[in-house]
Order: sequence, then C-alpha cells, then structure tokens
Amino acid sequence: MRFTKTITLSVVAAAAVQADMIYHCKEPNTIALTFDDGPNDRTTPQLLDILKANNIHATFFINGDNYIGNLEENEVGQEILRREHEEGHQIASHTWKHLIPDTKEGIKESMDRLDNLIESVAGYRPKYFRAPLGNISKETIEYFESLGYKVIQWDTDTNDWDYHDFPGLDDEAGKKKRVEMVKKFLTDEFAQERENYLVLMHDVNTHTAEQIVPWITENAPFDKYKFVTVAECLGDKDEGKNDTYNVNGNKSSSEQGSKNENKNNDTNNQTNDNGNNTQTNQDDGNSSNLNNNDQDTNKIIGEENVSNLQNNSKNGAGRNALNIYIASVLLLSTIFMLQ
Ligand SMILES: [Zn+2]
Repeated sequence: MRFTKTITLSVVAAAAVQADMIYHCKEPNTIALTFDDGPNDRTTPQLLDILKANNIHATFFINGDNYIGNLEENEVGQEILRREHEEGHQIASHTWKHLIPDTKEGIKESMDRLDNLIESVAGYRPKYFRAPLGNISKETIEYFESLGYKVIQWDTDTNDWDYHDFPGLDDEAGKKKRVEMVKKFLTDEFAQERENYLVLMHDVNTHTAEQIVPWITENAPFDKYKFVTVAECLGDKDEGKNDTYNVNGNKSSSEQGSKNENKNNDTNNQTNDNGNNTQTNQDDGNSSNLNNNDQDTNKIIGEENVSNLQNNSKNGAGRNALNIYIASVLLLSTIFMLQ
C-alpha cells in the first residue's frame, strides 16, 4: 500500500514537471536548424538543395494551408514534403492554418488533418509541434501533450522574418539589412560555444533560402557541432525510428533526392499559375490570421514578440529546475515518512 502511494506520488511529481515548451536541445554539440511556415514552392526546394549539398538535416514545422494553399490538393507541396522526408529531414506540425483552434475538438480535428496528410506522404505521424507565433497557453500545452506531441520552441531566434520595418528602407533593402544582422547575430551566438543550439528560421523567405542558410553552410562551426533534426538533438532518435521520424529516409537519399528534384522542377514548370495561388493564399492567410495585417510578416511577426519571451527560455528552464527540485523534495520526504 505504502509502496503504491509512493509510486503514485512519484507519478504525480513526474507529471508536475511536464506541460512546458521545449526550448533547448539535449544532446551536446548539436545544432538543430528549424524552418517554419512552409512549404513554399518558390523557396523550399532551393533551401533543400543547399541542405543536401552540405549534408545538413533540419526540421520543417509545416502548415497544411499556408503559402501554397491546401496541401491536400497541391501535388507540388506534397512533393516538397516527400523530398524533405526522403532527404533525411524531420517533418513536424505547425498547425493546419497557422492557427490553434479555440476548442479541444477543433484542435484534435485540425491536428489529425495535418497528421493524416503527412502520414500519406512521409509514412509517419509527426509528434513534434510548434505553436504558431510561439503562442500557446499552459493548458493548451497540456492538451497537446495529452495528444502525444512535444511542444517545441527555440533558443536562438534569427528574426529572419523581420525586414519590413526598417525606417527608410524598402523590402529589398530591408532584407539585405536583416541578412547582415543575422550573420552578425549567429557569429556572436556561435562564438559563445554553447552546448547546443535550437535555431528558428522560416523557409518561406527568399533571403533565408538564398543568403542566410548558404552563409551558415560556409561559416558555422562544423568542426564542433553536428547539424541534426529536433528529434535527434533531443536524443529521441530511437523513438523517431519506430514512430515519429523515419531516419531511414537518409538511406540512398542522394539517388532519390536527385530524382525528386527533377520531378519537382517538372511539376513546377507545369504549374506556373501556382505563383498566383501563392499570392492568394498569402492574402487569405493575412485576413484569416488573427494577429496582424502585413504580408508574410503577419504569420510570423508574433514569433518575434515571443522572442521577448526568449528570456522565458531561461525562466522556463529555471521553472523546470524548481519543479524538479520541489518534486524531488516531495518524493524524498514521502519515502522518508513511509519508512
Ligand atoms: Zn509560423
């Protein structure tokens, strides 16, 4: 009986340390690049080329209906996901429409919809989730955890989305300035030689695909760090193999990859009107999206706001440490009392 009580208390104590976003990798000497809001047929394939050429595996937090419209009806988008999977990247969920529905039923339904789509293309249901704009209440985190998802945040925010609001600069000049800022930021971050990095970027940006990631491939400390997926940087590799992330995708990726690249190009050529769809869907995204009015920024801008919560990453870690401490004290005193 006493033993049962102790076990029960232990379980309760263990549960108390859950329900928080994951800000950091666990494995030493790892860098997990993460890309949100895709796929975008104008930028993601190019980014995949660069990652492949440099043997970098990354994680894509995708939407079901964002830059290129409803993925259920979009073969180009599905082909991009297939390629992400076959080239060893991890596909994770970022909600169907860059929005967490208000009700549990709504959340379950929309998460299932995206998971079904990913499963049909990649053969597995994602178990890693990032909240749009990084915004999510503790209660909602608990609900996502009860559905089996790990809620992933970041500890290294490039702010690559933010190029609209530099005074006196148009978008092109703003992108140029942002790229320079990201280079400086990452140079400083990497100089700290932290144990690991969980980096936030957006594959939907042309300057991210064309300039920031190529710069990373030339300047990141490859001698000290391994570029891995989020599942791998959290030490979930085995879990991934069986359930969430099929690392077998690495196998013969070069052969499959080039095949897919060609396929992808063909498809792109066939559907030139896709660019127009993109525009429409961006606008849809803007109007349906809660937070802002501005073009692509709108989906992402809150993520910067959340970078203010970045300090929370420290607070979050502190809170976790405190929780673990309280849980341990509770557990030890219980065992002591029961003896
Ligand atoms: Zn997003």
